[in-house]
Amino acid sequence: MHGGTAAERARSMARSGQHFLQIPGPSPVPERVLQAMDRQVIDHRGPEFGRLGREVMDGCRSIFRTAGPVVIYPSSGTGAWEAAIVNTLSPGDRVLMAETGQFATLWRQMAARLGLEVEFIPGDWRRGAPPDVIEATLASDRSHAIKAVMVVHNETSTGALSRVPAIRRAIDAAGHPALFMVDTISSLGSADYRHDEWQVDVTIACSQKGLMLPPGLGFNAMSEKALAASRTNRMPRSYWDWAEMLKPNANGFFPYTPATTLLYGMREAIAILHEEGLDAVFARHHHLAAATRAAVGAWGLEVLCQEEAEHSPVLTAVMMPPGHDADHLRKVVLESCDMSLGAGLGKLAGKVFRIGHLGACNSLVLAGALSGVEMGLARAGVPHRAGGVAAALAVLAEPGDGGLRTQERHGKAA
Ligand SMILES: *Cc1c(COP(=O)(O)O)cnc(C)c1O
Repeated sequence: MHGGTAAERARSMARSGQHFLQIPGPSPVPERVLQAMDRQVIDHRGPEFGRLGREVMDGCRSIFRTAGPVVIYPSSGTGAWEAAIVNTLSPGDRVLMAETGQFATLWRQMAARLGLEVEFIPGDWRRGAPPDVIEATLASDRSHAIKAVMVVHNETSTGALSRVPAIRRAIDAAGHPALFMVDTISSLGSADYRHDEWQVDVTIACSQKGLMLPPGLGFNAMSEKALAASRTNRMPRSYWDWAEMLKPNANGFFPYTPATTLLYGMREAIAILHEEGLDAVFARHHHLAAATRAAVGAWGLEVLCQEEAEHSPVLTAVMMPPGHDADHLRKVVLESCDMSLGAGLGKLAGKVFRIGHLGACNSLVLAGALSGVEMGLARAGVPHRAGGVAAALAVLAEPGDGGLRTQERHGKAA
């Protein structure tokens, strides 16, 4: 029977079926990964663990695209940020960072707390880090006082993707020896990334975003140059110390208790990424992002990122019309459609909402998510034009959609 008010009917509709987790991390965990983790813990000093550890560490190298070591911490991304700093730099060192958004701002705050002197290239939170300014700043630093360039690859608060190869070229063009550190916390596994080819010295990542795992693993991939710096730098550390990690890692083991259960999930997530093929994964995310921007444009709303070449394949941040609160829209969408959208962070609070299309997302999930946004805009009384979903479907129907492949892959039992 259809009893109750319209709002009650909407809530009842929302409670059946599955929750749509469309925030830009944590992202939904595929069924296969959940099943891989549904098992008893094992002795982390026994032979079975050694095999698992080695497999996961080798697999990580293939995702970071590096021949060098990747250390895995039981930590969030913030811990991996700290590990990168304390293993390579010394108190008082100057570093160059770029204000791409809230995550770059938080990383800067951490660097300052750890005693670094940060030169922060100002930004308007609507584009990636500027290679030309980085080049000019390094070129004028003739005494090589700047010890590291630290950028966020995918700025999760704004949906802008910094051009890491262009920044590498900028550092080289200035002939500057600074270390190059990149936060790929939300991009790794969803956006193209090449640690070795792009000559990054430290790549920082974590489990719960592009890699389709629950929160709880932090990563550092490192170059020879970064390892050399770690042998002479003067930042105190213990838990995060690379040297302590790398010794037992050689045989697949850890210096302390690792997140065993998550490592089983990691092994499965790596297998899923390779079954689809990394290039196909990245193409799928570009396609989903293009469809999302088509919807936003058709609604008559504005995408926050203004740089055509820097639109994120991981998420899209959408600006609210003046006078309308993004958090109210998110609340309406959650209550009526059981979908979580990302909030505006820092100075963007209430001004933008973020649609995640990272990790295990495919065309039908995205179409459902965009439908929820379109219904939410109407319910919340936000001025917009109808037809955003139709515009997105037109893009999704074009060749290049990896939706069907993704569907098959995640449906298959382990
Ligand atoms: C989420 C995120 C972080 C922080 O990671 P936690 O796991 O929350 O500590 C840092 N940088 C970027 C780009 C992120 O998206």
